[in-house]
Amino acid sequence: MAKDDAAAPDTPPGEGDKAGDRPSRNFIQQIIDADVAEDRHTRVGIHTRFPPEPNGYLHIGHAKSILLNSGLATEYGGKFNLRFDDTNPAKEEQEYVDAIQEDVRWLGADWENRLFYASDYFETLFGWAKELIRAGHAYVCDLSADEMRELRGTLTEPGKPSPYRDRPAEESLKLFQQMREGEFADGAKTLRAKIDMASPNVNLRDPVMYRIKHAHHQRTGDDWPIYPSYDWTHGQSDAMEGITHSICTLEFENHRPLYDWFCDRLEELKLLPARPRQIEFARLNLTYTVMSKRKLLQLVTEGHVAGWDDPRMPTIRGLRRRGYTSEAVRAFCERIGVAKFNSTIDRLWLEDAVREHLNRTALRRMAVIDPLRVVLTDVDGEVAKQCQLDNHPQDPEQGVRTVTLGRVLYIERDDFMEEAPKKFFRLKPGGSVRLRGAGIATCQEVIKDDEGRVAELRCTFIPDTTALVDGKKVKGTIHWVDAATCHDCTVRLYDHLFKTENPDKAPEGGDFLDNLNPDSLRTVTAKVEPTVAEAEPGERLQFERLGYFYADPIDSKPGKPSFNRTVTLRDTWSKAGGSK
Ligand code: ATP
Ligand code: MG
Repeated sequence: MAKDDAAAPDTPPGEGDKAGDRPSRNFIQQIIDADVAEDRHTRVGIHTRFPPEPNGYLHIGHAKSILLNSGLATEYGGKFNLRFDDTNPAKEEQEYVDAIQEDVRWLGADWENRLFYASDYFETLFGWAKELIRAGHAYVCDLSADEMRELRGTLTEPGKPSPYRDRPAEESLKLFQQMREGEFADGAKTLRAKIDMASPNVNLRDPVMYRIKHAHHQRTGDDWPIYPSYDWTHGQSDAMEGITHSICTLEFENHRPLYDWFCDRLEELKLLPARPRQIEFARLNLTYTVMSKRKLLQLVTEGHVAGWDDPRMPTIRGLRRRGYTSEAVRAFCERIGVAKFNSTIDRLWLEDAVREHLNRTALRRMAVIDPLRVVLTDVDGEVAKQCQLDNHPQDPEQGVRTVTLGRVLYIERDDFMEEAPKKFFRLKPGGSVRLRGAGIATCQEVIKDDEGRVAELRCTFIPDTTALVDGKKVKGTIHWVDAATCHDCTVRLYDHLFKTENPDKAPEGGDFLDNLNPDSLRTVTAKVEPTVAEAEPGERLQFERLGYFYADPIDSKPGKPSFNRTVTLRDTWSKAGGSK
């Protein structure tokens, strides 16, 4: 199912391929097992972290990282931190800081009291940077960004040293202090690590440690006119927090030598409180969606979706509003495992995990999304039957509910076919079908409107679901709602937000937006049984044969129901021959 075999689990979803059942441990567990065997972390224990930049909402890829990190901490009896990597004030906001915490909590990852911010370490980092300057490992550089780029070289050509590279440490220290005091304009100077301009790894060609940016930071206000780079923050923050395994995605593989170089220098200077190690794994990609924060932001700001929590978005917010459960997201992440090679996972895996959880937990109800009127002509009076229907077929403890079947009801328009093929076991002229939990209806007459469209069916009714017709068992079973007691319900039906499996691959001269699916949302007014209309916001139900639905936490109110389809059903019992 995955697009690239390298990371593909070997059994399809739903066939018991949970991580725990695997004979072998994943490569990260193997590394940690070896570290534990070597007694490396016995004293401090395993310690992981999730380090989001608060510049957007979390998505399903982040969920993988969160659950991987927190899961390892739990598995090894260690600790898990949440740390905001808030070193770039221009794009970061408190709104994201709050939302990220809520989403991490929703996923079930627990940082206990260990919530940190890289900005908490600005003072320490500044002090350590001065020590690196003193030891000859860093210098203040006056080159502009463009000049620096020019001297940087390429993948095939070595770089050239900056003319400021051999500036005396004393002078650099003084300038660095002036940078910190706000004496220079944005971009006028940088602090750079003094490593190797000829290194084949461009990350080691005297990388920038500090930039001048007179920007307001959501936590430190206007205290700092200089901001540390990602590379000169991340590993140091890990070390300060006692992180043992700093797990990140593959694009940081080329940064690992720099991560280690900073740690080595600080260790030599006896400044490093603990030694973390970086391990990279493949980021999660899903079919039919984009995962880049920049693109997700663009979808929101340009109004292609209703917001970060639009149920079509791959954001945690979106999945939540769609009705996905955290149990399902956790099961999905566990099932896909971790790999060292990038791959794209079929969205079906995620949907299957949701189905599995909701199949166990959601109560069954009946709703008709495209109603066709049916009159039971031989019913005397208004009520044909009071039906006792199971709330959950596999869980008798969920009890039963009573649903009235009146003389007039609604069925799905596509459960009737005027000119039906032989294998069509639902309703057709002269044919019989079982009405779920009520009895058998036989179509005697088809009434059409002026345009020739089927407007109503006239049927006879036997109030016994097991009754034989012409000595034969009735094959099909369909759902229905009673016209007299049903309620209207807004129902949103979703399809993929993009019409192509890999929306990042744009058509010639276009961009990912050209791949948007114009039919990704269809809103209809359904007819629902009375219990559905009373649903509390946030309730999850199975509408029989239609899928799992979620009472929208914002739009739905008891008496004024509004449901989102979380996921369709894989199998429908009507086609399989039906039950009662
Ligand atoms: P950017 O850095 O461009 O803003 P990002 O998606 O990397 O985007 P971060 O907030 O830096 O966002 O990510 C936090 C953590 O989540 C990082 O450790 C990152 O490696 C991990 N992560 C991000 N995207 C994915 C993904 N698709 N699959 C797995 N982990 C991911
Ligand atoms: Mg990142």
